[in-house]
Amino acid sequence: MTRPWAPLASEPEVPLAARAAATYHALTGIDPVDADIADDDSFDRHILASIIAVARAGGLDVAARVGLAEEDLALLLAERFPRAMMSMLTRGATDSLDEEAAMVRDLLLGQRSTAGETGGWLACMVARRSIEPNHLWEDLGLRNRGELSRLLMRHFAPLASRNTRNMRWKRFFYRMLCEDDGFVMCTTPVCTNCSDFDLCFGEESGESRMADRRREWLSRSVGVSIEGAVGEAVPG
Ligand code: SF4
Repeated sequence: MTRPWAPLASEPEVPLAARAAATYHALTGIDPVDADIADDDSFDRHILASIIAVARAGGLDVAARVGLAEEDLALLLAERFPRAMMSMLTRGATDSLDEEAAMVRDLLLGQRSTAGETGGWLACMVARRSIEPNHLWEDLGLRNRGELSRLLMRHFAPLASRNTRNMRWKRFFYRMLCEDDGFVMCTTPVCTNCSDFDLCFGEESGESRMADRRREWLSRSVGVSIEGAVGEAVPG
């Protein structure tokens, strides 16, 4: 039987990457690998869909997982993804941002470089996803780190342009909070003397772990009907 919507997070046989891809497809009508992000509007739409998709793959409380109030998520969906089934995406409780994420959100909101709602939504979403455990670009569901750098340079240019040493973005936020708000991350005033140097400046590129896991799962599924597992929303 073909399902009209992306599989639920509670379906253990479907890995997170496939669930995220299915939700992305349901939002945009295309697979994430096919997204054309040449112009800024298409890029913003891709970014928003990616974040919502990876959040929904983790659970049904999507608003909480993307760091938006339910009414803001509903507005975002109505404006950007009118074909989406809003009632499914907005189901679940909404938590307020924890203290750490709220500090990152305020840091971003204070240094916006675009007008309109999208930058405000993204400040909340990037901040909320920054408390997840992986590289930030992965926890935003993006295809590579370059997309995160472009997002930040586009919407938060005054802040992003200060990352002149190509520091990992999540660590860079905390470094900025150290300087601006007395948040404690740095144990030394000089990076070259710091035992956390690799955490802040280590390799952050490469292929998304999500893509890796999805490919693994697809290769294990040879001979198994993909349609039977996750329905038509999963791209081939
Ligand atoms: S390397 Fe150390 S001092 Fe430099 S930003 Fe990272 S934690 Fe702070």
